[in-house]
Amino acid sequence: PPTIHLADYRPSDHLIDRVDLDIRLDPHASRVTALLALRPNPQGKVGAPLVLDGDELKLVSLAMDGEVLLENAYTASPSGLTIHRPPQRPFTLAIETEIDPTANTKLMGLYRSSGVYCTQCEADGFRRITYFLDRPDILSIYTTRIEASREEAPVLLGNGNPVGSGDVPGTDRHYAIWQDPHPKPAYLFAIVGGRLGSVTGRFTTSEGREVALGVYVEPGKEARADYALDAVIRSMKWDEEGFGRAYDLDVFNVVAVSDFNMGAMENKGLNIFNDKYVLASPETATDADYANIEAIIAHEYFHNWSGNRVTCRDWFQLCLKEGLTVFRDQEFSSDMRSRAVHRISEVRTLRARQFPEDAGPLAHPVRPKQYAEINNFYTATVYEKGAEIVRMLKTLIGEDAFRKGMDRYFADNDGTAATVEDFLAAFATETGRDLSHFAQWYERPGTPRIAVTGTYDAAAKTYRLDFRQTRPGAGADAPPLVIPVALGLVGEDGPLAARSERVQDGVFVLDKAEDSVTFESVASRPVPSLFRDFSAPVRVEINQSDAERLTLLRHDTDAFNRWESAQRVALRIIIAAARGGSETLDGAEGFADALAAFLDQEAVNDPAFAALMLALPSEGEVASEIGANIDPDAIFAARRRLREAIALRLRDPLIVLRERLAEPAGAPFSPDAASAGRRAFRNAALDLIAVADPDRGTVLAREQIAASGTMTDRLAGLATLSQIPGDAREAELAAFAERYAGEPLILDKWLAIQAAIPEDGTIARIRQLQQHPAFSITNPNRVRSLVGVFSLSNPTQFNRADGAGYALVAETVLALDKRNPQVAARLLTAFGSWRQMEPRRRAAAEETLRGIVAVGGLSRDVADIAGR
Ligand code: ZN
Repeated sequence: PPTIHLADYRPSDHLIDRVDLDIRLDPHASRVTALLALRPNPQGKVGAPLVLDGDELKLVSLAMDGEVLLENAYTASPSGLTIHRPPQRPFTLAIETEIDPTANTKLMGLYRSSGVYCTQCEADGFRRITYFLDRPDILSIYTTRIEASREEAPVLLGNGNPVGSGDVPGTDRHYAIWQDPHPKPAYLFAIVGGRLGSVTGRFTTSEGREVALGVYVEPGKEARADYALDAVIRSMKWDEEGFGRAYDLDVFNVVAVSDFNMGAMENKGLNIFNDKYVLASPETATDADYANIEAIIAHEYFHNWSGNRVTCRDWFQLCLKEGLTVFRDQEFSSDMRSRAVHRISEVRTLRARQFPEDAGPLAHPVRPKQYAEINNFYTATVYEKGAEIVRMLKTLIGEDAFRKGMDRYFADNDGTAATVEDFLAAFATETGRDLSHFAQWYERPGTPRIAVTGTYDAAAKTYRLDFRQTRPGAGADAPPLVIPVALGLVGEDGPLAARSERVQDGVFVLDKAEDSVTFESVASRPVPSLFRDFSAPVRVEINQSDAERLTLLRHDTDAFNRWESAQRVALRIIIAAARGGSETLDGAEGFADALAAFLDQEAVNDPAFAALMLALPSEGEVASEIGANIDPDAIFAARRRLREAIALRLRDPLIVLRERLAEPAGAPFSPDAASAGRRAFRNAALDLIAVADPDRGTVLAREQIAASGTMTDRLAGLATLSQIPGDAREAELAAFAERYAGEPLILDKWLAIQAAIPEDGTIARIRQLQQHPAFSITNPNRVRSLVGVFSLSNPTQFNRADGAGYALVAETVLALDKRNPQVAARLLTAFGSWRQMEPRRRAAAEETLRGIVAVGGLSRDVADIAGR
């Protein structure tokens, strides 16, 4: 497939000022008439042909300035429409196309989800609705008339404000007209038509605008939409307070659909969501679901400014809206919940998804320089590392300057399609700083490694830290990055006051390949606490003993590094055991003692944090830390042994704490962070109790499944049981499926639990589940829950030495590619770490990938990933 290069960007030769759409919905033959007001772009080439994008379109009629166009004046195909000699003045085109939304299994453009008409246009779905200049730097004012059978689609929604509606005389059809006063790129276009229930609310903006809010869901599920509506209101308020951003239309609607390729989409005034991220009730949703709903509602809402009012010039700038908006939703969630706990979960996600991506063949800069298929660049790197860059910028320039820079960015670029350079320019202007060196973060792939050594001079009472930065794969002449290192010193009895000229507000800026910091008046040998709050997305190499790390666990003022130092000890023990295969777990006892002391002092006060302390680094994280010649079975066994050692040591206190932290009988359910934190701790405790004593764990888990009123606890009970082979597990799995038959989102969790069972029988189990009524290859959520979870969360079985795990995933990818290439390609990214496996698995993975590449007729999406 042709590769598109950032360096080749040039402005469009034509502009589209206005788009008037008339969409007549029909299950198989929807008619779209687009009236486009075009003109030559003063920045474009004079006399250039007009080349409109299309994808699987059928042209019905075409007129220019009201006159039917002669056939030799244009060329049309399903994938494009070219007007050979367009006028050198403003003109209109009326284009009529016909599309079949029922046959649209790619879920891009206009499609039907459980009978509901909906659209997805990012990145290039609008060209599947009508011929268009489908690129984000073409901003137009849209008016949309939607017409449908009243019976089939009583609800008709569009972008902007509703300006008219009525019946179509003499038919069973009706229409609605929506007008969006804000110029927008086509990828933000959306309509919805269908039978939908709703909950509604109101919000008055800081500018005094009255906004009507609606959350639309499958009829009968309205009660499950309340939390999403509440999250919308909290998001609107937070963006006014935190960023000075008020909403700008009279209506804001969210619609939940059950077939959706991604999480959600920020269409102007009409956000469309995967129903998984809208629907919640205590009976049906876990605490994690509530947290995700809150975060994703906020994310899409925040796009209204960071994405919609200021959009992207081209798709290479995707991080401009995504990294920034992830940063904004992370800050929102941190304000709504515990900041430290949230930061830890952000970093876990980054390490689980982005670090491996950055270390393998799918690595790319946060702003890629080229792509073959843009849909393959909605990645952890663009989103999560992109957010880390914004966070580093804030750390470097400080909170006040950051806010002023953001205000300037919005003011200077409002209503335009901007670039990363525009973003940085706002901060450079505001602070007077040169940020061109910092900009390298957007250009370079790979996770930097920072090697640190500390030297204490007892006589001079100084402590020196030497830093050296490298990036895997980068040549010796590659420019160093600008890295904010938040740091401090800790002593045996607590934090040490330490001064250094190079440290301002607790931050040292490392912007050379090598540099050092010296602290004065350091009374005794300190332990350095580095990269506090994970101040940069790097790997740190420092020679620290377990004892030093456990000193940080006890005394650091930085909650993130307290957790991190315990994780580092666990990683060291697991990696040593995995490498040595030795029977002893060197250091496990000391580690377990430290955890016991921690629990004793802090579990009751901060159960959410304590739950995180109990969670060992995942097998994936251990693998990514080892980096080469990975044997997933050895990692699994080593991690399991450490878990057993900890579980045996902590069992008694955990039994006591689990009861102490129980919700009082009859207490009303709350999804808030405090209640969720108690549940998280109790369930982490249950899991460890079951490791120490499977019989007791089985009894407790079954009690919890039977007695609990929350989905969080029932599922946690089931997850614990899923790790204990036997009749109890199978009985509870069967009972759960029966209880929630007809609840696809809940059965997704049931599929996921089974996909993650680390046993040889799992592949056979998955093949059986693929035949179960709860599974369907046409629904992305089902596929991700079963096969996606298997590939990402079951490392020993996915990476089986006999290649059976790879074969299972490859089969699903190929079956899916014919229907939905985007989801198929995403599933295939699980192979991104294949080169790091030990030789036998590497060979099996390579053979599987070569088998995929050899298949004819692959989609561009899958061909691109398989090829890389
Ligand atoms: Zn986004």
